[in-house]
Amino acid sequence: MKRPTILVLGAGYGGLTTVVNLQKLVGQDGANIVLVNKNDYHYESTWLHEAGAGTIDSNKARYDVESVIDKSKVKFVKAEVTNIDVTERLVETTAGKMDYDYLVIGLGFEGETFGIPGLDTYALALTNLNAARQVREHIEYQFASWSLDEVKDDSKLTIVVGGAGFTGIEFLGELGNRVPELCKEFDIPQEKVRVLCVEAAPMVLPGFDEGLVEYAVSQLQKKGIEFSIGTPVVEATEEGVKIKKGEDEFEFIKAGTVVWAAGVRGNKLIETSGIENARARVRVEADMRAPGFEDVFIVGDCAFMINPEVDRPYPPTAQIAMQQGAQIAKNIVSLIEGNETSAFVPDLKGAVCSLGHDDAIGDAMGRKFTGKTASALKKVIDNRALFLVGGAGLVLKKGKFKFL
Ligand code: FAD
Ligand code: NAD
Repeated sequence: MKRPTILVLGAGYGGLTTVVNLQKLVGQDGANIVLVNKNDYHYESTWLHEAGAGTIDSNKARYDVESVIDKSKVKFVKAEVTNIDVTERLVETTAGKMDYDYLVIGLGFEGETFGIPGLDTYALALTNLNAARQVREHIEYQFASWSLDEVKDDSKLTIVVGGAGFTGIEFLGELGNRVPELCKEFDIPQEKVRVLCVEAAPMVLPGFDEGLVEYAVSQLQKKGIEFSIGTPVVEATEEGVKIKKGEDEFEFIKAGTVVWAAGVRGNKLIETSGIENARARVRVEADMRAPGFEDVFIVGDCAFMINPEVDRPYPPTAQIAMQQGAQIAKNIVSLIEGNETSAFVPDLKGAVCSLGHDDAIGDAMGRKFTGKTASALKKVIDNRALFLVGGAGLVLKKGKFKFL
């Protein structure tokens, strides 16, 4: 019998977890496992706010894909996927065309701009490691040039963050710690710097526990961060952003840096793949297969599932992506062995939102956490994710151990 080829696209949380589970479950001669990723490294998307603010070096957030795969079982190809055609069962990449018996699509998220004019051109975003580096370097450039300018334009020192979801708030938490360091580095009086978060909804972290949100806002305000709530960004230009403050009332905020953190969609390659989708996300079957395709699985932020308890989609998170990866590996092995697949049942453990390396809020395991306890919990979660992919060795190499 021909050895089936399992082609996994993307070495993010979802794709990499699928592969490390497959390499444990599939025997030496059981299948050809091929993993394709744009870079030869995996990056922790969940640390992009830190790399973007410059509170960690971006190298801390990445590790070589080959350091966590079993090369006797998995062939890693560093290439960019350029087209997926599930009807022809063909994937085009910069390393050539690839076919498969089972396909796992785990190409992650892109920033959602909702068609708001100017955002694609003028706003930066925390969507991958290089984008996060660009955010850091742009802020540093603005601060450095303000120091050197003879005629000073203080708006160079204004940072607008669009969106007060988890990404926006975690990034603001890092900025709260980083801005004083930058001011010292570039000889800038701190009162010249303005960090403003603009949120469309009537509250920060919509849907999260109100008491915890209140704590987060007050902690960030203590670090000088301002909030404009219920005021959607409606346009971005080279100079800054326009926000809507009332029926016919708008305000233009001049800013040297605009970081867009107002939501995500799936990878655009999904839209031309032949799979039914909405905003590049696929409403998957219970076993994580794409509707109508027996041999195609979707993992992570490209997948979409409804939580029946609240009749709303599960949020796209690393927590869920990793659990899906483990289930998909089991399901593919079941199919190869001629057995039935099983449904994916998320095991939601809660959410922790950092407010810098030393503070956080958390609603997890039925309890609420704030401050250093929540922050320590967040680091345990980050370390656990490393452990699940690369074991204790990876935790020792890349883990977070500063708990106090
Ligand atoms: P990703 O992890 O984004 O991986 C996608 C992979 O595909 C990447 O390696 C990418 O390089 C590769 N790729 C993309 N396009 C191509 C292509 N064309 N060809 C080849 N390779 C390609 N979730 C949590 O659960 N907890 C958190 O604390 C948390 N914090 C977050 C903080 C921030 C700042 C952000 C932005 C997100 C956070 N999330 C968190 C959400 C989480 O990061 C995502 O849900 C998760 O990364 C999704 O995993 P994925 O495998 O679908 O995609
Ligand atoms: P999100 O969708 O959770 O939040 C986006 C925010 O932007 C919302 O509050 C929304 O009201 C606001 N917004 C939308 N349009 C706007 C506009 N025009 N102007 C101003 N504000 C606007 O997106 P996110 O924060 O990028 O998070 C994406 C996913 O990643 C979520 O599932 C989140 O749970 C997950 N995540 C988790 C963590 C964590 O667990 N610590 C951290 C970051 C991200």
